[in-house]
Amino acid sequence: MQLSTVACREKFRRNRWDRNQALIAILLHLVFASGIISVVVQHSIQILQARGYKVTRARRRVLEVLASTQKSVSPYDIQRLLVEQGEYLNHVTIYRVLDLLCGLNLAHRVPSTGGFVGCSLGKTGGCHRFVVCRQCGAIEEFVDEELCQEEGRFAESLGFHTEFHLSESCGLCSECYRKQVKQNSTG
Ligand SMILES: [Zn+2]
Ligand SMILES: [Zn+2]
Ligand SMILES: [Zn+2]
Repeated sequence: MQLSTVACREKFRRNRWDRNQALIAILLHLVFASGIISVVVQHSIQILQARGYKVTRARRRVLEVLASTQKSVSPYDIQRLLVEQGEYLNHVTIYRVLDLLCGLNLAHRVPSTGGFVGCSLGKTGGCHRFVVCRQCGAIEEFVDEELCQEEGRFAESLGFHTEFHLSESCGLCSECYRKQVKQNSTG
């Protein structure tokens, strides 16, 4: 009896410890994630200002939404996400802001989805390219100078002078691919 009470108390203490650990992990994640978001937004704001653009409420809000999502979003998604935060922007404004951000390479239009993502490469020059998961929508952005040169040479062989590249690889991210392989082997 005595022993089981001690064990019980010990178990309770451990559970509480686990819960506290989980809570701390969640809080750290939130602080870390919001820290990254504000760094990305801050960087974009600096570029806007350096190019002589005012940092309006609409521009800041759209940048924040783009920085907080890992997938491409349509102007309608952006509007909905803002409404959830008690903010309202009309579609024309959102389109205009996206146009400006894409023109400054602070955001990109993802060809396969037609949606928009915030640029994740900062000041990195060159052509920003994507790999996009058709299953979960995860997007990874990268630059590859060699790939650019190779494509440029190929276009040249067709008598074409390339000015920039838009490119996207569609398929499955490693996580979705792993799930599919598992599903195929068990089903
Ligand atoms: Zn980019
Ligand atoms: Zn995926
Ligand atoms: Zn290129």
